[in-house]
Amino acid sequence: MHRLLMAWLAVIGLMIVSGGGVAAEEPSATPLIAYAARIAGDESRARIVIDFDRKPQFTLHYTAAPARLIVDLDETTFGFGDSDLAPKGLFTDIRYGRMGAGASRLVLTARRPFKAVLAEARENEPGKGFRLILDSEMTSADEFAALVKNQTWDAEKVAGGKTPRVAPAETPQAGPESDAIIIAIDAGHGGIDTGALGASGKTVEKDVTLAFAKTLADQLNAKPGFRAFLTRSDDTFVSLPERVTIARQGKARLFISLHADTLRQKGIRGATVYTISDRASDKLAEGLAERENLSDDIAGLEVKDEPEEVADILIDLTRRETQAFSIQLAEHVVKSFEGQIELINNPLRHAGFRVLQAPDVPSVLLELGFMSNAEDEKLLTSKAWRDKVSTLIADAAVAYFKANGVLRGG
Ligand SMILES: [Zn+2]
Repeated sequence: MHRLLMAWLAVIGLMIVSGGGVAAEEPSATPLIAYAARIAGDESRARIVIDFDRKPQFTLHYTAAPARLIVDLDETTFGFGDSDLAPKGLFTDIRYGRMGAGASRLVLTARRPFKAVLAEARENEPGKGFRLILDSEMTSADEFAALVKNQTWDAEKVAGGKTPRVAPAETPQAGPESDAIIIAIDAGHGGIDTGALGASGKTVEKDVTLAFAKTLADQLNAKPGFRAFLTRSDDTFVSLPERVTIARQGKARLFISLHADTLRQKGIRGATVYTISDRASDKLAEGLAERENLSDDIAGLEVKDEPEEVADILIDLTRRETQAFSIQLAEHVVKSFEGQIELINNPLRHAGFRVLQAPDVPSVLLELGFMSNAEDEKLLTSKAWRDKVSTLIADAAVAYFKANGVLRGG
């Protein structure tokens, strides 16, 4: 690189560093200090947060086979323990270290194609420097290949320059349908996870939910202004966090998960509408959520009990708002079902369903009936009943959006 250009870039770098307002005395001479780090997430997405003493400048690029994201930083002293950033979930390996004079690097290796959806340095509370937030999500092999291909990876710039370049995260979207209200329909279970077995011994839950999901998607797609898509459209296994991620990536404004489980009490029948909650509303809800959450164990995935996200006040606020909307939606569904189909006592319940964890997509889980009950099983496999209940759910979705002023006529 040209010397003059180098010098100029160094000046820009200086300006950027001192522009952060901290450590103006000895800007670029002293390495950055990364004093703490943490990671959260699952096999479909991850959030990494690293605390720095000053505002870090960084660039990102991808490499393929294996899928990697490389984060180039100014020279950094990594002061946190290895276990703080131990690979987990989406990432199989995380490395970081010095790359020679003036440069350091963080390398994230993923188990599948992925993309950075957020890469940002935010200011911590006064005197505590900045934190680098890196959010990654699984993506298709095609999208990942496009990310690798289309990036302008300039080795010199990364080594010598300080050009901050944020994640080339592309969100497939827009187009003529971008105004449509998008709804994700989630057929419970699938593949190796068959779900519950009917009283007759012939019906399996994963087939009931898929048939139902397709009917419901058709019903919604027939409504002007709506577009529904399925989190699975055939008999394949999709993990619970993947379902959440698929809904979020598809820009869903509602997430409806369909189930039909069993109970030891064969007499109990009727539909139940669930929303998420830390504490279950009752024993029945608690037991059901536990069984539904087993899905990933059945497929041999490692499931960890830990907070979904690294605590972030914005996410907490969003979550609370989303929960209020979820409850609203659940109330509309119950109202639509009343007098039309069998409901259990207190049909509005809540528990810790892992599939309802999207912080920003109002989500409900419908137990359409109980396969352990012979009458319910008959209905659950009947096309006429499926059509009727799908219509009621689609009507509830319309009522919900009308009540929130998204659709006219409410
Ligand atoms: Zn189920």
